[in-house]
Amino acid sequence: MTLDYIARSFLLSEIVKGMALTFKYMFKPRVTINYPYEKGPISPRFRGEHALRRYPNGEERCIACKLCEAICPALAITIEAEPRDDGSRRTTRYDIDMTKCIYCGLCAEACPVDAIVEGPNFEFATETREELYYNKDRLLANGDRWEAQIAANLAADAPYR
Ligand code: SF4
Ligand code: SF4
Repeated sequence: MTLDYIARSFLLSEIVKGMALTFKYMFKPRVTINYPYEKGPISPRFRGEHALRRYPNGEERCIACKLCEAICPALAITIEAEPRDDGSRRTTRYDIDMTKCIYCGLCAEACPVDAIVEGPNFEFATETREELYYNKDRLLANGDRWEAQIAANLAADAPYR
């Protein structure tokens, strides 16, 4: 044991092995990406930041059925609703406490009109808890911003739903 240790110390065999490994990987394709300038692919089923969607004519999809609120295991969703003058039912309040959300996706699965979804955005870290209390305006703005990608992801996943 002692001779072996002395031989390895004098011949620097461990350093040579380490350098050989470094050189071996130096000429191979990189497996890392230069985030945030480069981003990896994301599954269509990725559960990111929530969004409320609209129909192409700008009308809100949500019909205030409250299924998402009922199914949310974290009790993160709060909805209030009133009928409009035309008799349609819409939310007057739609809040999600993102500090409670566990990103289970049950709200999106329960929604009969694909109104509430978990979009592809994962870059929404904040410095305060208050910024993670999302209201309806914030959720609708998210939907407007990400609609193209959300619609493409839902279409890609449709055969498996
Ligand atoms: S993803 Fe899950 S925990 Fe988060 S709001 Fe939807 S149902 Fe609630
Ligand atoms: S988001 Fe969907 S499930 Fe939730 S209240 Fe609106 S229509 Fe119902």
